[in-house]
Amino acid sequence: MTATPSTLVSRNPADPDDVLLRISAPGPRAATDAVERARAAQPAWLPAGAAARSAALGAVAAAVEAAADELAALAVREVGKPLTEARAEVARTAAVWRYYAQAPYEPTGTVHETAAGPGLLLTRRRPHGVAGLITPWNFPFAIPSWKSAPALAAGNTVVLKPAPEATACAQKLAEIVQGALPEGVFTVLPGGAAEGAALVDAADAVSFTGSTAAGRTVTRAASARGIPVQAEMGGLNAAIVLPDADIARAAAHIAAAIAGYAGQKCTATSRVIAVGAALGPLREALAEALRAVPVGDPADAATVCGPLISAAARDRVAEAASGLRVLAGGAGPEGSHGPGWYVSPTLVEQAPHDHRLLREEVFGPLAALLPADDLAHAVRIANAVPYGLVTSVHTAGLDTALAGLDRLDTGMIRINAPSTGVDFHLPFGGTKASSHGPREQGRAALEFYTASRTYTLCPAGAI
Ligand code: NAD
Repeated sequence: MTATPSTLVSRNPADPDDVLLRISAPGPRAATDAVERARAAQPAWLPAGAAARSAALGAVAAAVEAAADELAALAVREVGKPLTEARAEVARTAAVWRYYAQAPYEPTGTVHETAAGPGLLLTRRRPHGVAGLITPWNFPFAIPSWKSAPALAAGNTVVLKPAPEATACAQKLAEIVQGALPEGVFTVLPGGAAEGAALVDAADAVSFTGSTAAGRTVTRAASARGIPVQAEMGGLNAAIVLPDADIARAAAHIAAAIAGYAGQKCTATSRVIAVGAALGPLREALAEALRAVPVGDPADAATVCGPLISAAARDRVAEAASGLRVLAGGAGPEGSHGPGWYVSPTLVEQAPHDHRLLREEVFGPLAALLPADDLAHAVRIANAVPYGLVTSVHTAGLDTALAGLDRLDTGMIRINAPSTGVDFHLPFGGTKASSHGPREQGRAALEFYTASRTYTLCPAGAI
């Protein structure tokens, strides 16, 4: 999908001649109007009660399940997500709505004794009002859902500004969610940066996921208004492989984390750090595993690595790999996987420490192999980037795993598992340029979408 100031055009990344959608961008004023309508709907949504909010969220989960095949096919066509991953994303989307459907019944506060005298102290979490949600294209159903569901469960109303590349998916999600909720409670506002910026200027709280550059702009604008803001942004994630690891299994996990969905996940692995004697066997096993990754039409259930989201994204990957020693993949002949924007899963080595690949997120099926003398050296390399989202550590040693947990500067650490993969009932987020503000997902999200009030209740005439 490409955006001009006035037109949003969504194309199939596997077949760019296939245009899904062409609409006029509504402009910034539409964001203000959408927030006003959502604000008007909010006072009735909270007092609707826990049972009503729970039932509505449960109904969304059921509707997502009923439309699962259609939703998965749309994600394949609009954002080039391989069918098997698209189906898994839709299943997770339903699970997220079901999980937060229980949240309206959760306690919203605590009861305390007064420090002195009669009475009662209470805390109670209340919604902010209108949650403005800004999302990327790479998880077109799951990310809008893991922001919307907790916001709605807590009694906020929602205006969602999806990525232009995923407009058709967002419109389909809107149809499903709006079918289960009162009018005005959930609105999708199509558009690009202009509509997103206007939403930040009007909402009562903002949750953003996307690139670090856009996230920084959003957090600055929201902070200037003094409203709650969280941003989940880019990653430059490392996998550390120790000599005692099961090298074949580690290579399989890492290949999946480099190449799955063409590396277009914030949690994808882009740096592979081999400690000591792991280097030789890992180099061979990982190159072989990457060469074996099924690349091609995302509509094929066997495909693991589909097309990149745009021609520019494909060119960025090829450019980042140029001049480096290629162990697997590399620029194949144009059109070798079909008419879309494909890159074969690529492993390079001998990248100088200041190479762009080791400083900036590339967002494609590309990783650099780096040697380390020992675990401490590997941790130093892993931490020496501006990002801090997730690290995977591959080892048979519990001591090594625990040492890694202590010293790695990332928000998530996964031992003997790919860097990709999210458990939506736990807090999700990173350090440094990967995240700003409170965590999302799990119970942490319910805290973000509410603010605590403290009440003092005194018997009449007692003080
Ligand atoms: P993007 O930053 O280009 O766009 C994200 C969203 O922000 C879109 O809706 C876009 O229209 C909007 N936007 C852009 N500029 C804006 C502005 N100035 N004000 C308000 N809104 C603005 O990102 P993308 O290409 O859609 O997604 C890929 C990026 O998302 C990668 O960097 C990836 O790492 C990141 N991502 C992070 C996570 C995470 O949880 N950490 C998850 C998925 C994707």
